Parts: sequence; C-alpha cells; structure tokens
Amino acid sequence: MKGIISLNNFSFRYSDKYILKNINIEIEEGQCVGILGKNGSGKTTLINCIIGELRGEGNISVLNTIPNIHSIEFKSNIGIVLDNDILIDYLTLNEYLNFIGQLFKLEKVQIEKSIKYWLKYFDLEEQRYRIIKFFSHGMRKKVQIIVALMHNPKIIIVDEPTNGLDIEMIYLFKNVILDLKKKGITIVISTHILSFVEDVCDEVIIINDGVINNIFSISSINEQKLENIFIEQINRDGD
Ligand code: ADP
Repeated sequence: MKGIISLNNFSFRYSDKYILKNINIEIEEGQCVGILGKNGSGKTTLINCIIGELRGEGNISVLNTIPNIHSIEFKSNIGIVLDNDILIDYLTLNEYLNFIGQLFKLEKVQIEKSIKYWLKYFDLEEQRYRIIKFFSHGMRKKVQIIVALMHNPKIIIVDEPTNGLDIEMIYLFKNVILDLKKKGITIVISTHILSFVEDVCDEVIIINDGVINNIFSISSINEQKLENIFIEQINRDGD
C-alpha cells in the first residue's frame, strides 16, 4: 500500500552530481520517522524534496499529490520546521501569529484559539505583545514550532530541530513530538541526536552519500544501541 509519503526510484541532482540516488521510502500515516546520516549525506536535500522545494527524478507523492511548497493547499496539510529562522523581527508575536493564521485562511476564532493554546503550551503568554527581534534563540524556535502547528497539519517535517537548543528545550521539543504522535500526526525528523530518535521515533532511515543505507523500526533493535548500529552501517559503507 502506498504511504502518506512515498518515494519510488527517486533521485535528485545538482547539474550532473547526484545528491539522492534511487530512494525508496514508504511512510505510513501516524508514523514518526527519524532520518539519520552524516553531514552532507543528503538529509536536508531529501526533506526539501519531500516538502516540494526541490524537484527530482522518479516518483514522489505526499498526501497523494506531488509536493509543492508554493501551493497553499499543499502547505495547509503540512507543518515545516527548518533549521533556518525566518521570522519577521519587527512584528509582535501576536501580529506574526495572526498573519500566519490569515495566510492559512484560518477563521479569526480559530486563530485566537490556536494562539492561546500554543502560547500557554510553550509558556509564551507574557511575550504575546513583544517584538520578536528581542526573543532568545529558544523562544524563536518555539515560535517556529507554533507556526508549523497552528493550522493543524497532517504531517510535520522537522530538519535539525535541536540545533543550538539547551537541554530543557530539547526535552520540551521531545514532548511536543510525543504529543503530536498521540494525535496521529505523521512526523519526519532529521537529527544528529540519536537518543532523540530512540525516544520518539518508530522507524529510522539511515542515509549515506545520497543512498538509503537501511530502514528499520526502533522496536527491532532490542537492546542494541542505535549509536552502534549507525556507526557500523556508516563504516560498512566506507569499506
Ligand atoms: P545533510 O543535510 O545530510 O548535511 P545536504 O542535503 O545538505 O546534506 O547536502 C548533501 C550534498 O548536497 C552535499 O554534498 C552538499 O554539498 C550538496 N549540496 C547541497 N546544496 C547544494 C547546492 N545548492 N548545489 C550543489 N550541491 C549542493
């Protein structure tokens, strides 16, 4: 059966250099999938293809459609937290979140309900009327996550969520993911933090030099440490 995210013989290249080679992935609805790989292995490129920012060769479908970041209809079903931080600094948090809500064509009452819920969840209620420019790195990350979730997407795509975050924020973010899992949302996360993957993910995809090295479920690794499996896989590939 075709997954909610499905890639079949999918490749991507910059001019004649293939960055992703013959990728086959099926992600089922409600699964939480971690993408692991060394720097430069193709994780961000893969995520950019899944959100339709980059177009490759072969078959790719997300929610039964070809992903297209420029389509509001497509975007209204997915939430994206990328490693870059593109907030509008001179808006207050309230203005910014209302702006995002309107962009997704949410009803006014729905926007207000969502803002109240997420500001409470992330302990940002007192920041509501402050200008974003003065927010700390952790607060900005929280805002990025709220923006990704405000419109109740079916899929959340997260690239390097823990970069630059302190332990408390990583813990909080882990709980956000666990809460989203309970709601049946499909989640794709690229990260270097293996314990994060062990704690929240159902499935792991290891990518090495643009090739899927292995796909397995977290429950299948029993007492083995993900770290050992990962290092073994990467080294085996380098032989
Ligand atoms: P990761 O996220 O795993 O660190 P990336 O997907 O960012 O890896 O990069 C995979 C490969 O693609 C790297 O070799 C990188 O140099 C190359 N790459 C990324 N962006 C471009 C680009 N705009 N033009 C050419 N090569 C690129």
